[in-house]
Amino acid sequence: MKYRRLGPSGLQVSELSFGAWVTFGQQLQVAEAEKLMRTAFDAGVNFFDNAESYNNGQAETIMGQVFKNAGWAREAFVVSTKFFWGIREVVNQQDTLNRKYLLEAINGSLKRFQLDYVDIVFAHRADPNTPIEETVWAMHQLIESGKAFYWGTSEWSAYEIVSALYIAEKHHLHKPISEQSHYNMFTRERVEKEYARLFQEHHYGDVTWSPLASGFLSGKYLDGIPQDSRAMQPGYEWLQKSVSKADRIEKVKQLMPLANELGATMAQLALAWCLKNQNLSSVILGASRVDQLQENLAAQEFVAKLTPDVMKRIEELLQNKPR
Ligand code: NDP
Repeated sequence: MKYRRLGPSGLQVSELSFGAWVTFGQQLQVAEAEKLMRTAFDAGVNFFDNAESYNNGQAETIMGQVFKNAGWAREAFVVSTKFFWGIREVVNQQDTLNRKYLLEAINGSLKRFQLDYVDIVFAHRADPNTPIEETVWAMHQLIESGKAFYWGTSEWSAYEIVSALYIAEKHHLHKPISEQSHYNMFTRERVEKEYARLFQEHHYGDVTWSPLASGFLSGKYLDGIPQDSRAMQPGYEWLQKSVSKADRIEKVKQLMPLANELGATMAQLALAWCLKNQNLSSVILGASRVDQLQENLAAQEFVAKLTPDVMKRIEELLQNKPR
């Protein structure tokens, strides 16, 4: 496993990490989650991603139980959570990044994780109804309290991120260090274009999500929607439309012979392609089964095979490079 610095910080995270969205608490309970996390950890994954909202806190409870069962030294892993949507239907606890919510939400997460601190707290979305200054101060306070070590953003605009950086700079507060953004062969605009100067000028980090477009880039949806797939999960019916788009299906069909030529599966090609982007600190994997995770972790072996010529062929097939 290779490790990369998380943005401008000194924190090293495995370039492939593992997250709990959809799976923990919905498709998987503690025993299966433990098998997956042990598989990841044994392969050198040191970074596990979660969020307060994932299955209403259940994903944190399950991950925390696995940390306990596995008995890993707390120093050996990095764990993140994310706040914004909230899990209580109360005013000031939903769709917000206000100080009250953030400083209360961390206590609930730590309880569910059975941990004294998390390593990173991400602001899961930007909040147009809270001044960015209030959020920056609250995140600073959260870090100063020892309940988290770093903070970051998720799906914030470059403008919002730079505002947070300057507010922190002005008041000598802890700065956000990393984005958590959607990035894969079909979703590229923000990471490759909007954030370009953030990476160059601020060395901002990025740990990216849905590298397989919820499994679509494994090629599993080419002949319809499998019964046991994410798109058939209750609450995820919205995915059925995107995994059935004819133009995307055609592109994956065209990419598959190229993956074959390299000796990779389609999922491995898609993940290696993400890893090729040196602006990313980590690519967060998702998996509902151990065999999927093993396949995905092996994607690292194919990065060296993505020569300029192969990358050019991929671009010609994708036809979506941001200008
Ligand atoms: P992916 O796009 O990789 O999708 C993962 C899903 O695809 C798996 O659960 C599985 O679903 C299927 N899959 C994975 N590998 C394979 C394979 N080799 N062959 C066939 N099917 C496969 O990642 P996620 O969408 O899960 O995102 C990863 C993580 O990113 C999340 O867990 C979360 O931590 C984070 N995230 C953050 C967000 C944010 O807003 N900041 C938003 C979303 C995610 P199945 O078997 O059920 O079909």
